[in-house]
Amino acid sequence: FQVPFPQNEPVKEYRPGSDERTKLKAALAEASSNTIDIPMYIGADEVRTDVQKALVAPHNRHQILGYYHEGDESHVEQAITAALNAKEDWANLTWEHRASIFLKAAELLAGPYRYKINAATMLGQSKSAFQAEIDSACELIDFLRFNVHYMTEIYSQQPRSSAGVWNRQEYRPLEGFVFALTPFNFTAIAGNLPTAPAMMGNTVVWKPAIQQIYSARVIMEVLKEAGLPDGVINLIYVDGPVAGEVIFNHPDFAGIHFTGSTGVFQQIWKTIGENIHLYKSYPRIVGETGGKDFVLVHESADPKAVATALVRGAFEYQGQKCSAASRAYIPVSRWDQIREYVLADLQAIKMGTVENFQNFVNAVIDERAFDKITRYITDAKNDPTIEVVAGGGFDKKDGFFVEPTVLLASDPLYVTMCEEIFGPVLTVYLYHPDNIEQTIELVDQTSPYALTGAIFAQDRYIIERVAKKLSNAAGNFYINDKPTGAVVGQQPFGGARASGTNDKAGSSLNLLRWVSARAIKETL
Ligand code: NAD
Repeated sequence: FQVPFPQNEPVKEYRPGSDERTKLKAALAEASSNTIDIPMYIGADEVRTDVQKALVAPHNRHQILGYYHEGDESHVEQAITAALNAKEDWANLTWEHRASIFLKAAELLAGPYRYKINAATMLGQSKSAFQAEIDSACELIDFLRFNVHYMTEIYSQQPRSSAGVWNRQEYRPLEGFVFALTPFNFTAIAGNLPTAPAMMGNTVVWKPAIQQIYSARVIMEVLKEAGLPDGVINLIYVDGPVAGEVIFNHPDFAGIHFTGSTGVFQQIWKTIGENIHLYKSYPRIVGETGGKDFVLVHESADPKAVATALVRGAFEYQGQKCSAASRAYIPVSRWDQIREYVLADLQAIKMGTVENFQNFVNAVIDERAFDKITRYITDAKNDPTIEVVAGGGFDKKDGFFVEPTVLLASDPLYVTMCEEIFGPVLTVYLYHPDNIEQTIELVDQTSPYALTGAIFAQDRYIIERVAKKLSNAAGNFYINDKPTGAVVGQQPFGGARASGTNDKAGSSLNLLRWVSARAIKETL
């Protein structure tokens, strides 16, 4: 009874003069001319509070997009109660009926809501039209459609029976509620984290990152219109630690679906460990966290392909992808040529607001991120061992703009080679081609993360050697391609080490974490 493997949602290009471009521009104009009111969604209610906070466009600090209603502990408790009250009916609904709600949501996103959610992602998270399209339209739609397929793949796995014995396995949802705690940088991830457990029959409390609230509200509108029953997913805007305090002390807490920084995840894991005696079951802990993603270039690589991968991999969405290329190891013999191509590409790049579709680079997410990123850049500029190859400029007068910056470090353990910056900063280290073995070792040992990485080479022996030696250094490994842009159903995504539990978002591995199987033996 498997639902067939879906096709990936085709990407719209928004070319000048196209109908789709006109529609997206209209959605942007409409969103910009209204300040929207953003309530929480708890059970059947849209909840408004006295604490209204402004949402500001990162690329235009003077533009208030809307106001959201902030909640407190009482709203977290209400959301848990709503999730628990909705649980029985939802869990008892047959999978076909649950699936059809999420498939309908995908249709709505692919059709009438496409421009609205892209506009919300562009304005709220400062994404270009293309980056919004591949995120809030295509990837989110793919998550919903592919997860329905993977769900049926799981349900159809049944044990063997024998003469006189009928064995079967039920895939039941977890006992209790699931907490989805989501990051600012991908609308698709924010949508996947609550919907994947819900698809498997769980009910969910969802707390998004404040900076993603605008597109989160659109996701809730879509799910409601698709027929998601009240209380199955409850969206609250409460300070992270305040929400955590209530949730991780609740006996019905059944699991967390998290994406965000490594530090926050480790703190949450510790709290869950300390509270383990409180819970009915061992909670499922699923988290995708930080990265320090590498590009290793061999002498045999094509320099033009390397340069394109570095510029796109490091600077699309201002380097605010967990998979962004942020450290590159390049043979000294190849550097002049690669550098020339990189500089030429960077010269063609424009930076500015999202309304101008020519802008490849927009703003970083907020002042905190701006200050963190620019501290690294300022320190590098003041360090005589660092050469600023490109960029290095920044300005927060009107929006949080940071130029795509390329640093050349003589020390392979320089701080920007090791720490996650989460901004448009790429650091290059040049190695002597004779030292390829030591360089592979460096790539493996330099950072605690293991999310994505790429090898560029034409030499097949080298490709195989690097792939083997770096087998634990990246959950997603690319050969002659940039380390970003995983596609649902094609490159299941997730990292190991300090980058996460590697439960591969948008796959049956992930969905399995949201079921508690019961094996039944019946003697006939
Ligand atoms: P973040 O860790 O700051 O926040 C993630 C979520 O946790 C937000 O909803 C936030 O409000 C909440 N939160 C923060 N502190 C908390 C606390 N003490 N208790 C409870 N909740 C808390 O991450 P971010 O800045 O939104 O996202 C960027 C990070 O996410 C980067 O490190 C990036 O690498 C990572 N990320 C990883 C992946 C992946 O697939 N591996 C994907 C996207 C982003």
